Amino acid sequence: MDIAVIGSNMVDLISYITRMPEEGETIEAPDFALGCGGKGANQAVAASRLGSEVLMVTRVGDDLFAANTVRNFELNGIDTTFVLPTPGTSGVAPIFVDEQSRNSIIIVKGANGALSPDDVEAAAAEIARCSLIVLQLEIPLATVNAAIELGSRAGVPVLLNPAPATEGLDYERVALCEYFVPNETELAILTGLPTSTLEEVSIAARSLVERGCRNGIVTLGSKGVLLVDAEGEELIAQTTAVEAVDTTGAGDAFIGCFAHEITHATPLRDALVRANAYAAHSVTGRGTQSSYATADEFSAWVE
Ligand code: ADP
Repeated sequence: MDIAVIGSNMVDLISYITRMPEEGETIEAPDFALGCGGKGANQAVAASRLGSEVLMVTRVGDDLFAANTVRNFELNGIDTTFVLPTPGTSGVAPIFVDEQSRNSIIIVKGANGALSPDDVEAAAAEIARCSLIVLQLEIPLATVNAAIELGSRAGVPVLLNPAPATEGLDYERVALCEYFVPNETELAILTGLPTSTLEEVSIAARSLVERGCRNGIVTLGSKGVLLVDAEGEELIAQTTAVEAVDTTGAGDAFIGCFAHEITHATPLRDALVRANAYAAHSVTGRGTQSSYATADEFSAWVE
């Protein structure tokens, strides 16, 4: 196995509406779509489509969504040995998108809230054989911490995507991570510093490195990505200019591709450039996982 993703999965329940309903009002949605999402699952799918062998450690409910989620992992070639069933609901996200593409999203964590440090321990032998552990913050912080400690113990580098930004993140544990990958908003929340300009982002990213983070990688939307490494060296990689159709899941596409490149011996700076291009490609298509290219599709697009 190349990559262990220990994280969330969600079922997106997307209603396309003409306008948001008023309080107490019932309106009809002209269209509906059911999609597979969740930051962990998205990142796993992107890496697997690019050709990485991915082990997914996650929990699903005992409802009708669970089988669909497992099937989606299988269709994408992801190892589901540790996709664990849990009594209760799966993680679900009712999403409303209006005609101006404005959205309202409700996240029901469901089974994701039950992914425990014991689950990480149960999969420890398999996780320890991977070349990279990938984590986000849609599961309990205690579980994220257990996974960081396992990586540290087993000598497996850890990538932490601190999304959504959560209070209580412990910098001693962040310092154990090889790659720390927030977007600009998460960086602002986590450091308490402004991130409106590139200069501010750079100062905030440096403050992370000063607190022990080895490679601070900040995704900047259409502006690309900024890296500050342990020596304080900085790199800004700009994205390919594209016509953005739907930017949801761009950050997850970036991380899935970056994880794939890093575990296939691509040097750090080249991996950032590749991930930037892969994420740019993902914003040219509708939806989240549905916009993630396979290795062949990506090669054809890059050329
Ligand atoms: P998130 O999806 O977490 O909000 P960002 O908005 O920072 O994250 O986007 C992640 C990455 O996706 C960026 O670093 C960039 O590579 C790519 N990206 C996002 N929006 C665009 C865009 N409009 N054009 C080109 N690339 C984009």
